[in-house]
Amino acid sequence: MSVEPERTRALDGATKRLLWDRMVSAKQTVSTYAVILDGDTVETLELTAAQAEGIECLTCKAPCSTGEGAFRPVGRIPSVGTVFQCVACLGGAR
Ligand SMILES: [Zn+2]
Repeated sequence: MSVEPERTRALDGATKRLLWDRMVSAKQTVSTYAVILDGDTVETLELTAAQAEGIECLTCKAPCSTGEGAFRPVGRIPSVGTVFQCVACLGGAR
């Protein structure tokens, strides 16, 4: 059985997108986290699991998967992960 390469790629993209959306929507539980921001400031923030795990912008919840270069790590949550902000929220919008 042969599979058209073009078709496989398109399907893969759509599947990845679907899996990503599903993964993000499964991580919308809001919890309180102690976030260590750059400069060792500890702030208690209410974040979704997606934000805490660094897959959404800490401020506007834009998905970090799209245009990763536009996101900067801004701090970390011990035993959870690194948190990110998009450049727009960092004040770097053009
Ligand atoms: Zn943002």
